[in-house]
Amino acid sequence: MMVFRKLARWLGMGGMSPPGGIDCANVVAQLYEYIDEELDEKRAEQIREHLRLCKRCFPRYDFEKAFLRFLSVQGRLSAPPDLRRRIFHDILEQESQN
Ligand SMILES: [Zn+2]
Repeated sequence: MMVFRKLARWLGMGGMSPPGGIDCANVVAQLYEYIDEELDEKRAEQIREHLRLCKRCFPRYDFEKAFLRFLSVQGRLSAPPDLRRRIFHDILEQESQN
């Protein structure tokens, strides 16, 4: 049983201890701050570890990076942070409905 539990945790199926010690909902909620480097080092490390292990969140992370790159190419990074955040979450919501 111990082996199974370890394996389950390693695969991110442990329920009790999600990858990086932070669950997907929390990662998604803080992904923007993570990419924007607004988080403290401890939290950023948790998210980095989660993204490395979680196959569900990593594509989102990739998408968000691409999104921020798009914004900077468009010269919109000077837009108010609240506006950027709102655009970003609109896109995320649309994406998750597809
Ligand atoms: Zn995840």
